[in-house]
Amino acid sequence: MFSKILIANRGEIALRVVRACREMGIASVAVHSTADSDAMHVRMADEAICIGPASSTDSYLSVPAIISACEITGAEAIHPGYGFLSENANFVQIVEDHGLTFIGPRAEHIRIMGDKITAKETMRKLGVPCVPGSEGGVPDLESARRVAAEIGYPVIVKATAGGGGRGMKLARSAEELDNAFGGARREAKAAFGNDEVYIEKYLGRPRHIEIQVFGDGKGNAVHLGERDCSLQRRHQKVLEEAPGPVIDAETRARIGKVCADAVAAIGYAGAGTIEFLYEDGEFYFIEMNTRLQVEHPVTEAIFGVDLVREQIRVASGQPLSFAQDELQINGHAIEVRINAEKLPNFSPCPGLVNTFHAPGGLGVRMDSAIYAGYRIPPYYDSLIAKLIVHGRDRPEALARLRRALGELIIDGIDTTVPLFFDLLAQDEIQRGDYTIHWLESYLARPQG
Ligand code: ADP
Repeated sequence: MFSKILIANRGEIALRVVRACREMGIASVAVHSTADSDAMHVRMADEAICIGPASSTDSYLSVPAIISACEITGAEAIHPGYGFLSENANFVQIVEDHGLTFIGPRAEHIRIMGDKITAKETMRKLGVPCVPGSEGGVPDLESARRVAAEIGYPVIVKATAGGGGRGMKLARSAEELDNAFGGARREAKAAFGNDEVYIEKYLGRPRHIEIQVFGDGKGNAVHLGERDCSLQRRHQKVLEEAPGPVIDAETRARIGKVCADAVAAIGYAGAGTIEFLYEDGEFYFIEMNTRLQVEHPVTEAIFGVDLVREQIRVASGQPLSFAQDELQINGHAIEVRINAEKLPNFSPCPGLVNTFHAPGGLGVRMDSAIYAGYRIPPYYDSLIAKLIVHGRDRPEALARLRRALGELIIDGIDTTVPLFFDLLAQDEIQRGDYTIHWLESYLARPQG
């Protein structure tokens, strides 16, 4: 086992990794930008080292700075968290070339899944059901028209290098395709420096269901059920729950096994998430994330496992600490993402947190790195807290969420908390009856 781990991230996820390290008796090293000197992950880690200025390009994304920080502190392994360098295959290669361990999958698997066309092709061959679409990239408008006509409208044009919902355009008809194709390419070029796009059938009312998998890197893998992340705004998840309100045990076992077998077959190591759209009882693969997800705590809650601990164990060469038949679901968990944003436009709202009180009590978990007197810097993601509740069943989890949100106090900045009170009052949310489009149409309704 490692004796010291460097955490190449910030905010709540850096703190999350510090917590796992401490429970495992492993020393932790925080890295931070000059804008984050007062950050909680810096205070909580055993050591901290400044790696550059506020701009993440020159700090949290600076490979030389991070490798140097490992060499200076004697850290043997790097946990990347999510975002930043977590899915950067070149970074993994450099880490390994320096004799360090990357806590995550092999560079090769990150590379395959990071290219959405290769990912889809790989998954299809492994027996994972995919969305009907173009075979590979679509080079020009003429091919786009032909492919779209074959699949049938509506279609969605997506960036091969896509992420975060960018570079994605809907075309409901051949007339709309011209704009969608050009728009997706331009957006992809600007966001990812790669304008390759592909085309998929657009599903009208799917749910977003994702399967958590875990591989030991030696050909064994398990699944930890699904998360329903259908509540999205601009393709960004807002609320996640596990188990999914519409997935029964038999469906879970079936798709879970398909996913576990697929990652076992490629010798995948560590945590991964296979994302699907789910409509009329069918699963359609959209992408695989080769890292820990923001919403991993809902899975931890219902299975009673520590996924970060497991990532560290697997990276150090230890076997998985659970077998498939030992993984039993207990109750229901819901996570809400609390952002420093002003409603109704969700405009970023960094600034000084005057007062902060985190909710507590049975079945309540708050993953956050803010504190009273903390000034949220304007340079990074607006996620400031994740509130996760766990109950014996879904109604209990919903009641607990309402109760916990009522206890939460964040003064000084605007947050997305009021949205969650509104959502909890909606019949569709209470019944678990929503698709990936529900939240956008709810937000578009005249509020009164
Ligand atoms: P990203 O990597 O940018 O997050 P994804 O492929 O995971 O892109 O898609 C993000 C979201 O976009 C999905 O959760 C879903 O809401 C929507 N989406 C993607 N593909 C389709 C599709 N074929 N039909 C309908 N919606 C889609």
